[in-house]
Amino acid sequence: MAQMREMMYEGKAKQVFATDDPTLAIIHYKDDATAFNGLKKGTIVGKGVINNVVSNHLMTLLKEHGVESHLVEQLSERDTLVRRVQIVPIEVIVRNIAAGSLSKRIGYPEGTKLKSTVLEYCYKNDDLGDPMINETHIAAMGLATKEEMDDIASMALKVNEVLTDYLKDLNIELIDFKLEFGRFDGRIVLADEISPDTCRFWDSKTGEKLDKDRFRRDLGDVEEAYQEILHRLMGGEKK
Ligand code: 5GP
Repeated sequence: MAQMREMMYEGKAKQVFATDDPTLAIIHYKDDATAFNGLKKGTIVGKGVINNVVSNHLMTLLKEHGVESHLVEQLSERDTLVRRVQIVPIEVIVRNIAAGSLSKRIGYPEGTKLKSTVLEYCYKNDDLGDPMINETHIAAMGLATKEEMDDIASMALKVNEVLTDYLKDLNIELIDFKLEFGRFDGRIVLADEISPDTCRFWDSKTGEKLDKDRFRRDLGDVEEAYQEILHRLMGGEKK
């Protein structure tokens, strides 16, 4: 059993600790929430516990479909043992339906179905506000190789396929989401988290938002939305 050592990194929603095994790290999920690059700050009570369980559940499902991730095993309510990856400093956004910044950028009302899946890349840099970049910027900046980007794109599309199908049965529409990838043992693996913090989940019947937009946009019932996602995923309930 890997023993927890010093904190290596503290982000907005998570802490990452070293362990006595150099190939492993421990992620600790917090209830802290931020939006708009840290301008809005708050707490979503119980979020850390829910995001830990939801992310591990979805990464386990993805593994069954051949998508490798950093997940090793959940250690406790808020702690998960992961492979210690080198994070590729690119946020990968996958979109099925227009919402958020895409709606603003191209003038499509939120909820407009896209004719095909959109893949976007952002440079992971808080000081610059995570600007959108393309594959030529990624090559020019040396952020990832062409081969790595091919793997990242095909894995991101596979994640979209698997999660869209899975969530549909739970009456959840997967609008869009953000992924991060890491290098482990010379391979690209899925890293970070997949949760209501990083995805837009809309109730398929009512269109109700069941994700972090409730916090970002002050819609109320934030904790309840996170609970509802946990409940549907873990209960497998079909409403
Ligand atoms: P948008 O670009 O419309 O703001 O976000 C698109 C999708 O990616 C949403 O599901 C959003 O939650 C996720 N996303 C994009 N950037 C970030 C980020 O910096 N942090 C988190 N938690 N999610 C993000």
